[in-house]
Amino acid sequence: MQIPLEPACNGLSRRSFFRYAAGASALASLPIVTEAHLAMAARPHFADPNKGIHIDANENPLGPSDAARQAMIDIVPRGGRYLMNLQEEVEAIFAKQEGLAPENVRAFAGSSDPLHFTVLVNTSADHPLVVADPGYEAPMWAAKAGGAPVIKVPLADAKGTAKHDIKAMLAAATSPGVIYICNPNNPTGTCTPREEIEYAVGHAPKGSVVLIDEAYIHLCDEPRSLDFVKEGKDVVVLRTFSKLYGMAGVRMGFAIGKPELLKKLDYFGDNSLPITALAAAKASLLDADLVTTRKKIIGDVRKDNLTWLRSQGYAVTPSESNCFMLDTRRPGKEVMAGMAAKEIFIGRIWPAWPTQVRITVGTPTEMMAFQKAFTEVMSGSTAGLTMPDRPARRVDRTFTEIA
Ligand code: PLP
Repeated sequence: MQIPLEPACNGLSRRSFFRYAAGASALASLPIVTEAHLAMAARPHFADPNKGIHIDANENPLGPSDAARQAMIDIVPRGGRYLMNLQEEVEAIFAKQEGLAPENVRAFAGSSDPLHFTVLVNTSADHPLVVADPGYEAPMWAAKAGGAPVIKVPLADAKGTAKHDIKAMLAAATSPGVIYICNPNNPTGTCTPREEIEYAVGHAPKGSVVLIDEAYIHLCDEPRSLDFVKEGKDVVVLRTFSKLYGMAGVRMGFAIGKPELLKKLDYFGDNSLPITALAAAKASLLDADLVTTRKKIIGDVRKDNLTWLRSQGYAVTPSESNCFMLDTRRPGKEVMAGMAAKEIFIGRIWPAWPTQVRITVGTPTEMMAFQKAFTEVMSGSTAGLTMPDRPARRVDRTFTEIA
């Protein structure tokens, strides 16, 4: 890929530029891996999302709010314009709501891009990425793209709180790099207590960035992490409209950090965003009841299903999010295949927890179908079941599990 001659002009320090450049050749062959890629790679075929029940990608079946839908319709006639002012307005609305300065907020088409870029510009061969395991895999793919080592630290209290083991993560971080904290965690839906996140921010090796992914934060009651940004800490917080706001296919998210950290992301470009996504995001932010209403809808369905599964004798993670891990006590891949045969697509396994499958919270109707199918699948043998063949897709060309 093209490497600029004057890296400083692009907002990258000389050191981080060379760290980044070292991984550039590897980067050329790796996509920005997202939940969509990972969920699709685990599906039996390029399943029509309108066919069967998809509780495998942590999507929100409610979709965009009514106000967001109307806002998108209303703005379509202006689709011939770039409307960068609307982009700035959305950033400013969010900043004001959160007591941040507008320069602390940068909008992207979802949070996958800033996640990938933050890892790329702050890790290298001697600047590792430290993650919790099981955890969201996307940052590991970004580190791999940049040639940086990945240090996986098992979740603490795996059969209980399943929180990040922050002390162990920091002990593993012997040189500066990125410490990735997903709160609530994907795939477990579990939260890490605020004081432990504070410990991570206070004790990360000097020069590190603590990347706090709050994709699911609206679904829980935990304290938010934006105050670290207000205090000028070396923290980047990610937010997305893909989860509670139901806009995964519309694409909108924020990176929140101090200007020096956000500026480094400019290396990858600062592009104009789709005006439909901006309009929907603005309408969602201005809808005062939306977070509370949706948190309750999703939370109620989650609680019912966790209760039901426990009553059937299954262990589940104490999720506060729109997904949870379910211990099938069998190879999880076989259970996924058994469910897929009934057109119920459940989420993938993580190598560290091979008997557990990730379930996304769907609508009450979808979850009733899940319960029925799961009962049937588990009442028979799943030994030897595998996913049916499917045509190879782009993500498969690079998809291998990261050891
Ligand atoms: N972070 C986490 C933890 C996720 O689970 C996801 C998607 O599932 C993302 C980030 C990225 O989502 P998006 O790019 O749709 O904002």
